[in-house]
Amino acid sequence: MSDVSARPATETRAAEPTRLAEYTTLCLGGPAGRIETAASAEEIVQKVQQARLRDDEVLILAGGSNVVVGDAGFPGTVVLVRSRGLRVVAEDADTVTVRVEAGEPWDDLVAATVANGWSGLECLSGIPGSAGATPIQNVGAYGQEVAETITGVQVYDRVEGSLGRVEAADCGFAYRSSIFKYSERWVVLSVDFRLARSPLSGPVRYAELARALGVEPGDAVPLADARAAVLRLRAGKGMVLDAADPDTRSVGSFFTNPVLDGEAYELLRGRAADLGEPPHWPGAGDTVKVSAAWLIDKAGFAKGHPGPEGVAISSKHTLALTNRSGTASTAALIALARDIRDGVHARFGVPLHPEPVLVNCAV
Ligand SMILES: Cc1cc2nc3c(=O)[nH]c(=O)nc-3n(C[C@H](O)[C@H](O)[C@H](O)COP(=O)(O)OP(=O)(O)OC[C@H]3O[C@@H](n4cnc5c(N)ncnc54)[C@H](O)[C@@H]3O)c2cc1C
Repeated sequence: MSDVSARPATETRAAEPTRLAEYTTLCLGGPAGRIETAASAEEIVQKVQQARLRDDEVLILAGGSNVVVGDAGFPGTVVLVRSRGLRVVAEDADTVTVRVEAGEPWDDLVAATVANGWSGLECLSGIPGSAGATPIQNVGAYGQEVAETITGVQVYDRVEGSLGRVEAADCGFAYRSSIFKYSERWVVLSVDFRLARSPLSGPVRYAELARALGVEPGDAVPLADARAAVLRLRAGKGMVLDAADPDTRSVGSFFTNPVLDGEAYELLRGRAADLGEPPHWPGAGDTVKVSAAWLIDKAGFAKGHPGPEGVAISSKHTLALTNRSGTASTAALIALARDIRDGVHARFGVPLHPEPVLVNCAV
């Protein structure tokens, strides 16, 4: 992978009606007012400041793998984050802290950590996009999330017009969320990850991954084995980008798993009494996290379920909505998302919320 872009074009363009579909993994999104490519932290700050002087709205875009851009596009300046590189900024006998530029392709970073014997990111193999976007929604998969290894984030504060650092404790990390998501304030310039010097993964927490590795949950495995197993599992679900596979023309999971309090979960159990116990996990505090994929499937939206203009639920994963035809509009994808949300609510009384960032559109 040469950079994080969903599509190869990365040159600076001014005042051209380039469609943002060229820069998103959904291949959706109308024209941008202006597109600027930033190849370093300094350039990112410069492009954002210049846009401000023009009184332009700014959209920071990296791999475009977690955004749904409306058909009207984005009238302001889109700053494409293409900064690269990583370096060790602290180390001791047991750990190493790497500072990673925002535009570094995420999976290149994970591969490098595995090759170096640095443990902590291996279960996040195969996730598309950039390192700088991982704190935005506290990226997670297969029992790991970046909140466990991020120590701090170097930022440009658009409100104060200054450079700074947000320590991990102040990032507001939660399930698929942080202070950075939907923020008009923060631009992530680089991220620090503290990783263990170990040839072994952390304890494998995800039952499906443990089964795939032939170990018990809680066991550790060689880093390369964990990475290979995660990549295999993800590929089988269309969760690794593959230009030849229309099931991957998506943003990954379109909805987050609903987090319910005890009362809401009992209501769901009542409504699902004919279906058995809904798959669920303990959430933060007294909450319960319920499988959105299960709710969607049981509400009548199976894998492959079609929407207008050739959009469809992925044939490999109920949570991924895809621009299968490659020629659909954002409106069509949103129409499918609304059908699913309303259908799940009518059947189970549980609200679903979109996981990606919606730009000039709404579900
Ligand atoms: C096939 C597939 C599988 C996926 N699987 C997973 C998964 O398992 N787990 C998971 O958590 N996610 C998953 N995702 C979602 C996505 O890959 C991640 O959220 C990823 O971190 C997004 O990175 P990006 O560079 O593409 O961000 P973009 O889509 O470019 O941006 C996403 C949001 O972050 C903001 N942003 C990006 N970079 C910066 C920056 N430097 N500073 C400030 N704001 C910024 C953007 O403005 C936007 O609001 C998947 C997506 C796809 C397509």
